[in-house]
Amino acid sequence: MNTPFDVIIVGAGPAGSSAAIALASRGWHVALMEKQTFPRDKLCGEFISPEGISDFARLGVLPALLKKEPAPVHRVRVTLSADHQVRIELPEFGWGLSRYALDQVLFEHARALGVECHENSPVHTIKGDLERGFRVEVGPQSSSRVVLKAKTVIAATGRWSNVPRDPLHAVHGRKRLKRFVGIKAHFQGEPNLDDAVELHFFQAGYCGLNRIEGGEINLCALVEEEFATRFARSWEALIEAAAGQNPHLDNRIRAMRRSSEFLVTSPVIFQKRERILRDIFMVGDAAGFLDPFSGDGISTAVRSATLASRCIDDVMRGNVSNERTMKNYDRAYQSEFGRRFLFSRIIRNALSLGGIPPAFSRLQARIPALGKWVVRQTRGEVSGAGCQVSRER
Ligand SMILES: Cc1cc2nc3c(=O)[nH]c(=O)nc-3n(C[C@H](O)[C@H](O)[C@H](O)COP(=O)(O)OP(=O)(O)OC[C@H]3O[C@@H](n4cnc5c(N)ncnc54)[C@H](O)[C@@H]3O)c2cc1C
Repeated sequence: MNTPFDVIIVGAGPAGSSAAIALASRGWHVALMEKQTFPRDKLCGEFISPEGISDFARLGVLPALLKKEPAPVHRVRVTLSADHQVRIELPEFGWGLSRYALDQVLFEHARALGVECHENSPVHTIKGDLERGFRVEVGPQSSSRVVLKAKTVIAATGRWSNVPRDPLHAVHGRKRLKRFVGIKAHFQGEPNLDDAVELHFFQAGYCGLNRIEGGEINLCALVEEEFATRFARSWEALIEAAAGQNPHLDNRIRAMRRSSEFLVTSPVIFQKRERILRDIFMVGDAAGFLDPFSGDGISTAVRSATLASRCIDDVMRGNVSNERTMKNYDRAYQSEFGRRFLFSRIIRNALSLGGIPPAFSRLQARIPALGKWVVRQTRGEVSGAGCQVSRER
């Protein structure tokens, strides 16, 4: 490997590959290290918001993504109970696209721009700082590990960042935060699921459904850990129990046939994260995990990667000091995403109180702009027209 690098990026999900694309486009010598091999599946709702599509357009990857024929998504349908559902027209269309396709396209695009892309390359330790530079130890086996040098490091390692290990995990772990389990599988059938992304709520969580490329349906649920443990890893039974509480979900799954294995992730915990950790720029879920019901996690990952890339570009060109660039990133992150995280937390807490969803649905019938306003608070800037909201019974 042609070390030293200007930037080493750890993790090649949407955040890591986007950072690599942004930095290589600015002419920097970049290495992208991923512990898995592509293509690989990933637990996710696989809904790309309109904001996410515009992020990918800015990165120049839209033509490559369009070749995968993502399913267009024009509306969001939320069912809160048998009698309460809300329909929200998206201001611009979103996509259903598998992470199997998305993550590989981004990784290959980075490679085509000259990024040194390495799969099966877990990073074990990162030592150093912005003043002296970094030494990154990487490799699948201890006998074959190599040490690479770089001026800056980005950690795009996802929700559970093991390098650098986030000390906030330990602190918040002790606070006994509520733990969730994520479950996903692909299905075929159900011709009535049109171009909507659906979110069906039940007592212990919610289940999302949307079409992806090839006409398949992605089912992705987030449930409280206590509920999940009742089913002893029988995920089919868990989905059926959830459907037993929401007839809209029940109607859907009766018409669907599973076409993949279940993927499961646990625990999913919502907690504060650091944006800069020991001079390392944290991006994507490693910097903050947005509640999946917002459908904007991928866009948030890409945007945080772009912000960090801009700050790194500034410091490497000598425009700002190391201290200043880290502060700039922290501030820019807070101003871009602070409101999104706050409102997602408020909505998550409200949804866990039994009476709130029906009350919201009734209020929404009186004030149609309410749904539109709530959606806006959990998302990035919506360009063009606002959402159109209507209610169904
Ligand atoms: C249940 C659920 C449903 C969701 N649904 C949606 C949705 O519909 N739409 C949406 O926009 N968002 C959704 N999200 C959120 C979305 O999945 C994340 O926000 C997004 O994946 C974040 O991207 P990332 O690149 O930061 O992290 P990741 O996608 O997690 O990528 C991190 C990468 O880093 C690699 N890695 C980790 N450690 C190392 C290491 N030490 N060395 C090398 N590589 C390493 C991993 O293998 C992985 O490839 C959902 C999340 C959950 C849990």
